[in-house]
Amino acid sequence: MSPLQPARGTRDLIGEELRRHRHVIETARRIAETFGFEEWATPVFEDTRVFSRTLGETSDVVMKEMYSFTDRSGESLTLRPEATAGVCRALVSNGLTQSLPQKVFYAGPMFRYERPQKGRYRQFHQIDIELIGPAHPLADAEVMACGHCILEALGVAEGVTLEINTLGDAASRAAWRAALVAYFTARRDELSAESQARLERNPLRIIDSKERADQPIIAAAPVIAPYLTPSAAAFYAGVKQGLLRFGVPFRENPRIVRGLDYYGHTAFEFVTTGLGAQGTVMAGGRYDGLVAEMGGPPTPAVGWAAGIERLAMLLPAVPEAAAPVAVVPIAPELEAHAVVILQRLRREGIRAELEYTGNLRRRMERANRIGARWAVILGEAERERGSVQLKDLASGAQSEVPEADLIARLS
Ligand code: ATP
Ligand code: MG
Repeated sequence: MSPLQPARGTRDLIGEELRRHRHVIETARRIAETFGFEEWATPVFEDTRVFSRTLGETSDVVMKEMYSFTDRSGESLTLRPEATAGVCRALVSNGLTQSLPQKVFYAGPMFRYERPQKGRYRQFHQIDIELIGPAHPLADAEVMACGHCILEALGVAEGVTLEINTLGDAASRAAWRAALVAYFTARRDELSAESQARLERNPLRIIDSKERADQPIIAAAPVIAPYLTPSAAAFYAGVKQGLLRFGVPFRENPRIVRGLDYYGHTAFEFVTTGLGAQGTVMAGGRYDGLVAEMGGPPTPAVGWAAGIERLAMLLPAVPEAAAPVAVVPIAPELEAHAVVILQRLRREGIRAELEYTGNLRRRMERANRIGARWAVILGEAERERGSVQLKDLASGAQSEVPEADLIARLS
């Protein structure tokens, strides 16, 4: 029988790879906590409508990328392609729409049927933060500041640039959209087939196109600035002022539109040139209409999501797990005593492993193979004296240590 492979676009995370993922999540969780965010977990699959209603029927995610299936009772379910919709569904389901603000941190796997390539998978992982409640532009700035602090704590902020844009309010967007439709319609024949289809369905999305043919046309397309209403312009000015207050460097990029439908006002991406084509590591914006789409009251909110795989690739180095202490009884009669010492070390938080079998030489070989820093060697004579042999496996130096002093020597 030929060995089975992981499903296309999925990966096993083992050893260094998992350590990198975990380091990203643990760092983000710790920084987000200092900003007052609390972790939530919601189901991996949801009623398909949680996503189809909110991400936009015409978005790439809903049209092409969702893992949807009918379960045994005929319900349409979808493996979540992102976290925000589920968080907003949970806010409403749990009656939290009157307990604002809710500051949510999220980490977990997401699923999108995409063409797998470096930095793009079918099961991938995201960290997210969602700040639900405040309508103030300082909230947008704070959410971006939190993202920036996480990138700093991961040691990758240097190579990453925050790019921001505004999508205005509904009136600004409608005026801009009309200008875009006029502009793109005049150049329809030069657009990629995909963008021609978008022209009918969702013209703003053309600006997000990754097709090479579209790029020169996009570069000269109308920007939103002249179409902003005074209040939308004031909001955007407030966001930029907030970023200055938080000391977060940024660059304005009028081409940022975001791939999902629920964004308005602020849209932003943290981008890097260090990852080839998949250069966006963290992306988000304001989504004041989403909670209402879930059947809740109109609720302002702003947040972002970051791809853990892409952050993990950027990481300079990850701390290795502490080297273990090997507990090595020299004869089977000392096994019971070895287990007592083993558990005593572990209760003190020291990583310790027992070498079960073989003669002393074989057991020591294995202790070296697992990368042990110390070996605690248990012999009959030492046991009678209430002591052990402690061997430094780096230098080879060995000395007899009273059992009572062992923890202190190893800490
Ligand atoms: P892209 O334009 O690269 O397709 P997106 O706009 O679809 O990104 P978002 O929905 O904003 O991405 O997701 C936020 C982040 O999650 C992205 O910036 C990226 O880091 C990560 N991400 C999105 N899709 C994938 C994927 N298929 N594989 C790995 N990471 C992903
Ligand atoms: Mg995408």
